[in-house]
Amino acid sequence: MENKMKIAVIGAGASGMMAAISAAKYGAEVTLFEKNERVGKKILATGNGKCNLGNLAFSTDHYYCEDKEKLHKIFRVFSVWDVMTFFENIGLMVKSKNNYLYPYSEQASAVLDVLRMELKRAKIEVVTEVEITDAVYRKEEELFELKDASDRGYQFKKLIIACGSGASLKKGEGMRGYELAQRFGHKISPVVPGLVQLESNDSFIKALSGVRCQAGIRLLVDGSEAASENGELQFTQYGVSGIPIFQVSRIASYAIREGKKVEVVIDFFPEQDEKTFTYMNRLRYESLMDKKLEDFLTGTLHKKINAVMLKQAGLKPSMTAEDAGWQKVLALMEQYRAFVVHICGDHSIENAQVCAGGVMLSQISTEMESEVVKGLYFAGEVVDVDGECGGYNLQWAWTSGYIAGRNAAGFSTKEIAEDEEGQLRKEETQKENQKC
Ligand SMILES: Cc1cc2nc3c(=O)[nH]c(=O)nc-3n(C[C@H](O)[C@H](O)[C@H](O)COP(=O)(O)OP(=O)(O)OC[C@H]3O[C@@H](n4cnc5c(N)ncnc54)[C@H](O)[C@@H]3O)c2cc1C
Repeated sequence: MENKMKIAVIGAGASGMMAAISAAKYGAEVTLFEKNERVGKKILATGNGKCNLGNLAFSTDHYYCEDKEKLHKIFRVFSVWDVMTFFENIGLMVKSKNNYLYPYSEQASAVLDVLRMELKRAKIEVVTEVEITDAVYRKEEELFELKDASDRGYQFKKLIIACGSGASLKKGEGMRGYELAQRFGHKISPVVPGLVQLESNDSFIKALSGVRCQAGIRLLVDGSEAASENGELQFTQYGVSGIPIFQVSRIASYAIREGKKVEVVIDFFPEQDEKTFTYMNRLRYESLMDKKLEDFLTGTLHKKINAVMLKQAGLKPSMTAEDAGWQKVLALMEQYRAFVVHICGDHSIENAQVCAGGVMLSQISTEMESEVVKGLYFAGEVVDVDGECGGYNLQWAWTSGYIAGRNAAGFSTKEIAEDEEGQLRKEETQKENQKC
């Protein structure tokens, strides 16, 4: 027992629990600190309570980070397949729905339960309701000295910071990981909401509140297209939401902070090409021209959208399509293809699913070790790596946690990261499978 490497992990979220399990598996004596009364609280909220824990359509294209080459090497060590193997090995049945990985029960609690069981099986000391407020490295003793909120001290040989971000927490919470990293001399890139709703003061927003529809969206920054997405769009009291908005929100968040003009251009008929759209509307006009415009639009999209379109076009709902004439009707319909929502802000870190920014990857090795202080490691969202919706953020938490834990325990993954053929990883996975 005495000879075991003593490792502290700060934060028992997805990445911290994985780091602790991985370090213990490689022979370390691990203490996992969590400020909440329970571990893994955020996992329960993921994927609308179903926990989308990874994605088989994996590629680093789904991530934002300053060094994609390094990120690629990191994921080479512990891929989406390794995540599946890991969870199957600790008892979780995993299924894929269009490549999105979920627990078979579609209950996020199942993911947390198997992790908690594994923490117990690996004899990890879990210390809850203890917030680590300070950490320093004592060079002479080669020790990390931690302090909690009641000024109690702890000493460890290695330290893993897995404190997450402030996403979905109360204002000002979730910043401790960045503060600790900064104290060790790490650079932090600006932290903004990564997957979040966008706000608009446009007069029609409240009238559209509650509408959900399929749409194509384009994000314009200072008039130029910065991103585009398709999917279910939602209008809320304060602006726009839904997966396509989440996917582009990171770019919007940074642009807003830089004082740039941000707009979302909505195409309510994304599956129709221009020619077919015009042709279909001409047929519609010819057969329904005697109808009042409000009735002419009935049967197309949500009536709240139709009412806003008529208002925007400056047309009276009681006027017939024939009185308006084909050109005005065409112009009215074309509004549905390029409907502009002016964005005035993001809906804040407290409502975000993840944060962009954080501890810069340039000062972290592919082993997730600090290049500023040896023996210090990072895992999860505290690092400046964030993914799109689709299981990519949890994938990052599992991967970075596994690597941080294993390397902290003294088992290097450097060669696997550099092994382009992936041969070493394949052999490791085979060995792991045989063990079970
Ligand atoms: C509503 C919602 C839905 C999501 N859905 C998905 C999804 O389906 N798929 C997906 O891939 N991602 C999803 N995410 C994102 C994903 O949950 C996170 O990226 C992931 O949980 C980050 O893991 P982490 O371990 O880095 O951080 P966290 O899970 O935030 O864990 C950090 C832990 O550290 C603790 N802590 C912090 N500071 C200290 C300290 N000083 N001392 C002690 N303890 C401390 C915190 O209390 C926390 O428990 C979702 C996020 C939210 C909010």
